[in-house]
Amino acid sequence: MRRSARAVLGFARQAACSGLVHAEGTVMTATSCSSSAALLPPAAAASGRAAAAAALPAVRCFAATARPQHNAEPAAAEQQQQQQQQRAYERTCWQCGTPLSAHDQFFCPECESVQPASGDPQYYQVFDLGEQRFDVDAPDLEQRYRALQRRLHPDKFSTASPLEQEYAHQQAAVVNQAYDVLKKPLRRAHYILNQAGLGACEGMTITDPELLMYVMEAREDVEGAADKAQLARLLDQNTALKDKCIQELATAFRAGDLLHAAELTTQLRYICRIREAIVEKL
Ligand SMILES: [Zn+2]
Repeated sequence: MRRSARAVLGFARQAACSGLVHAEGTVMTATSCSSSAALLPPAAAASGRAAAAAALPAVRCFAATARPQHNAEPAAAEQQQQQQQQRAYERTCWQCGTPLSAHDQFFCPECESVQPASGDPQYYQVFDLGEQRFDVDAPDLEQRYRALQRRLHPDKFSTASPLEQEYAHQQAAVVNQAYDVLKKPLRRAHYILNQAGLGACEGMTITDPELLMYVMEAREDVEGAADKAQLARLLDQNTALKDKCIQELATAFRAGDLLHAAELTTQLRYICRIREAIVEKL
């Protein structure tokens, strides 16, 4: 029996393990990122779960619950970006003194020496991608990454001064870091939200009853999977959910609905955790 008393009693334990329930015994909703987020007692969450159990399809899009649209303007992020660009123009080459633009963050256009890495690198600027968009052309991003990696390879600086070698090393680390963040939808979404001042949303938990059901059942299914064929089926189901969630996330970011994007990012985080558990057992 999937919905056995054991499963129901196990809810608190599992939810606690998956971070759904706070230490105080409350479940935080994902409808708001502010500190005034509504708190539901566990019993209410459990009854919501029971209601959802009747109609859970194998794979469903977790439709957003009805809520007002918030078109949060990332004004703070834009202002920050402008300030960064302003500061970039104020830089000069450490070697020859040539003024450097925002596009010259790695090399001096005059003497081609490597410049010191910024203390606060802007990942989209690293790859000269312009505006921070969730939609990223993955092959294009990889091409830009490889090209920068080649230009900053230590072999190219074997005869350079120790200082320039150090700068090349620092910049290569920035490039790797930026690529790691931008290539993965979940990390990219977190980055954009952080830049927009919505970093606190990383602590949000899911409340969508269908997704809660999926998370709990998938954990049980992965733990009890008898063979690799069953795990492969769970992976397919997870892939469908992940792709759907990423599509919805892209739509929310395009619409400038950052609070919905934060909610979907939280959902994606849970889906990805299940995925990691499946892949680990495969
Ligand atoms: Zn120079």
